[in-house]
Amino acid sequence: MLVYALYPGSFDPMTSGHADIAVRASALFDQLVVGVFETPSKTLLFSVEERVELARQVLAPFKGVRVEPYSNLTINFARQLGARVIVRGLRMGSDFEREFDMALMNSKLAPDLETVCLMARGEHQFISSSLLKEAAQGGGQIESFVPECVAAALREKYCKGKV
Ligand code: ADP
Repeated sequence: MLVYALYPGSFDPMTSGHADIAVRASALFDQLVVGVFETPSKTLLFSVEERVELARQVLAPFKGVRVEPYSNLTINFARQLGARVIVRGLRMGSDFEREFDMALMNSKLAPDLETVCLMARGEHQFISSSLLKEAAQGGGQIESFVPECVAAALREKYCKGKV
C-alpha cells in the first residue's frame, strides 16, 4: 500500500532545516506533499506564491516531493490528498510543546491521521525563519542557513527596500 504524507508549514521562507526535513521524509514515504499554508497567524514576508515558488526551486532535484499551497484546515488538506501521515520537524526545546499540542489536537479531530516528527539535525537546530529574516534585514550573512535561491530572494526583499 502506498503511503502519502503531508509536511505542512508557513515556510516564510524555506530554510535549510525545512528542506532537510522534507528530503528525509520523502525517503520514508511514497509521496510527500509540502503544504504551504496561505494564511498563518504570523506576519509574513513572502506571499504564498513566493513561498511556494521558493520551496519548489529548493526541492526540485528530489523525486517524490511536490509543493502545494493550501488554505483549509491542515487535516482536511491531508485527507484531500489521501495522506495518512502529517510530518513535522522538531528542534531541541523550542518546538516540542507546540508540536505535541498540535499532534494531540489533530489526533482528536482526525484519528485516521498520524503525526510523525523528525528531529532537526544538529546544524539546523538554531535556524528559524523569523531569526533568519531579522539577520537578513540587518545585513547579516545568511548564506549558510538557506539554499542559495532563498538567500537571493531575501537579499532582494531587503536590499530593494520592499519591506
Ligand atoms: P509553522 O508556522 O507551521 O510552525 P514553519 O514554517 O515555521 O511553520 O515550520 C514548519 C515545520 O518545520 C514545523 O514542524 C517546524 O517545527 C519545522 N522546522 C522549523 N525550522 C526547522 C529547522 N531549522 N529544522 C527542522 N525543522 C524545522
